[in-house]
Amino acid sequence: MGLMTRNEYIESLGRMKKRVFIMGQEVENLIDHPLVRPSLNACAMTYELAQQPEHADLMLTTSNLTGQTVNRFTHLHQNTADLVIKVKMLRLLGQMTGCCFQRCVGMDALNALDSVTYEMDRAMGTGYHARFRQYLKHVQERDLVMNGAMTDPKGDRRLKPSQQADPDLFVRIVERKPDGIVVRGAKLHQTGALNSHEIIVMPTQTLSEEDKDYAVSFAIPADAQGVLMIYGRQPSDTRKLEGGQRDLGNREFGGHEAAIILEDVFVPWERVFMAGEYAFSGLLVERFAGYHRQSYGGCKTGVGDVVIGATQSLAQYQGTDKTSHIKDKIVEMIHLNETMYACGIACSAEGKPTASGTYLIDPLLANVCKLNVTRFPYEITRLAQDIAGGLLVTLPSEKDFANPKTGPYLEKYLHSVEQYTTEDRCRMLRLVENLTLGPGAAAYLVESLHGAGSPQAQRIMLRRLANLEEKMRLARRLAGIGNHREKQ
Ligand code: SF4
Ligand code: FE
Repeated sequence: MGLMTRNEYIESLGRMKKRVFIMGQEVENLIDHPLVRPSLNACAMTYELAQQPEHADLMLTTSNLTGQTVNRFTHLHQNTADLVIKVKMLRLLGQMTGCCFQRCVGMDALNALDSVTYEMDRAMGTGYHARFRQYLKHVQERDLVMNGAMTDPKGDRRLKPSQQADPDLFVRIVERKPDGIVVRGAKLHQTGALNSHEIIVMPTQTLSEEDKDYAVSFAIPADAQGVLMIYGRQPSDTRKLEGGQRDLGNREFGGHEAAIILEDVFVPWERVFMAGEYAFSGLLVERFAGYHRQSYGGCKTGVGDVVIGATQSLAQYQGTDKTSHIKDKIVEMIHLNETMYACGIACSAEGKPTASGTYLIDPLLANVCKLNVTRFPYEITRLAQDIAGGLLVTLPSEKDFANPKTGPYLEKYLHSVEQYTTEDRCRMLRLVENLTLGPGAAAYLVESLHGAGSPQAQRIMLRRLANLEEKMRLARRLAGIGNHREKQ
């Protein structure tokens, strides 16, 4: 027990008995599967960096529960410095992997559940918080990866959970027993599910009394009886099955999402953190989303650093880096990237303690952060593709470079600036392709758009949190309107 090394983490997953399907096949050896391994490598970086003394200040901290050194991914934020360091840690990991490294969702779920179980107990006389903290000790002591599972399939969006033709379209309690509950349903888009030890399920939306069986939160081992996972495809994913290297762009790392099916899974009471308290489902969703909207200010800027670095390198290799409009476009990319980071840092620095003592980000600024993340990576991507040029999508396969009949022609006609090789140019083109069109774009673009809630969810929060009344009062005071008239 205690901190795991990278290899110990991978071995621990290898011992699990998850039921996983990938492209129609049930997979026996999950950790060595070529479609899964890059995502496993990325998640394993959260262990690898934690072993490196130069990153200890970001990756490690002291548990407020046990006093032991823990990986920050299992930690409850104790102050605003913890929140700020979290964003820096995620940026570092984004820089090192160039993809989604998956472990943040669980960290955000743990922090959200800590304050919500505390407040729920106080309001309703339940006993979830002590139970949750006991569970968290188990997680910290074993240095586990948690899959935070929120998004239900949701069926017909006009209907509430209990109104759906199929009652299983939201995860629900199907049976209450003396020793626990039985749950059924599915969670979609589950980041890093295959690389997780545990799944923490939360409700997906605010619920009312008739839907109280859907107000359920619990933790289960990812290989619990009745759990089944189906791997989600990504653009160009089968390149990983071709046995090559160069055409992958990012040879070592990548993220993944999966659908998780829960077929009558038994959960003992000590792992249940909400069972019917519908009045707190909305708060749990909001807290989790708030933390995860902060997270993007770290991870997406780290990946953005790689996109910018790759684009600047390509400009150099192709001889355009000194051109004024190219320089200006790179500056624009930097500006957009650092704006997202600034929002991540700002919502952390403005964090406040919740009643349980765990710190929460400033929700308004976290929503601004995420709303920027729904847009800026797209503009950064457009600029990267602009600078890269059309070869980004017309470059022949690495097999054509290897073929003696075609390779020499490609070497000759794709060579650009003298001191850089054709191969370096092509490798960098593939990296930009991966990040802006390929599997990397699944996380850098579409996941930026919809992860932690689609843009409209953030706009609703901005409207709610911005205190428009106060802004109008400020304006009325200066304009000498209403109560302020006499002072003029
Ligand atoms: Fe973490 Fe970012 Fe992946 Fe979400 S998208 S799990 S915040 S790396
Ligand atoms: Fe996400």
